[in-house]
Amino acid sequence: MRGYLTHRYLIALGSNVRHPRFGPPREVLAAAIEALQDAGLDVEAVSRVIETPPLGPSRRRYANAAAVLESSLDPPELLDLLQDIESAFGRIRRGARWGARVLDLDIVLWSGGAWAEPRLIVPHPQFRARTFVLAPATQIASDWRDPITGLTLAQLQARLTRADPLA
Ligand code: ATP
Ligand code: MG
Ligand code: MG
Repeated sequence: MRGYLTHRYLIALGSNVRHPRFGPPREVLAAAIEALQDAGLDVEAVSRVIETPPLGPSRRRYANAAAVLESSLDPPELLDLLQDIESAFGRIRRGARWGARVLDLDIVLWSGGAWAEPRLIVPHPQFRARTFVLAPATQIASDWRDPITGLTLAQLQARLTRADPLA
């Protein structure tokens, strides 16, 4: 019976700050995967960690990864849990996006299709333009179709890298 009510999620993980206990961003992401499992989420697949230059005002390098999860939580419940984990890793919200952060956990795709409310938009509005999301995501879920464009992650990634020769 389990599985009937189960949702699948594609999560993007990011870090660009050392954690006092876990260490550099790549180790923060490894610890975050453990935290997701400890929170009761069923982690089905995890990409390799990639390191990319920062987006926006921060000058730090980012470590990024992607994970596919299964959970009976609905999207707002999962967002609450992800934000609890971000806080437990010491992330303080100062209102500014893209700044220094120990851990960022975003919901990129959901098996139920789209979700739209002020605090949660799925698919994540920016993911199609972000190599640091699509590159790891394609490693683990290349056939997953974006419900908005109808394109698979592999197709979105190919479109993005063709559009930007530097990507
Ligand atoms: P970006 O969303 O551009 O990657 P960010 O991840 O740095 O920026 P945050 O500070 O982590 O932004 O989150 C800002 C708000 O975005 C959150 O409080 C949350 O309510 C909202 N949000 C909307 N859609 C999503 C989503 N799909 N996943 C995670 N957060 C989302
Ligand atoms: Mg983000
Ligand atoms: Mg975020």
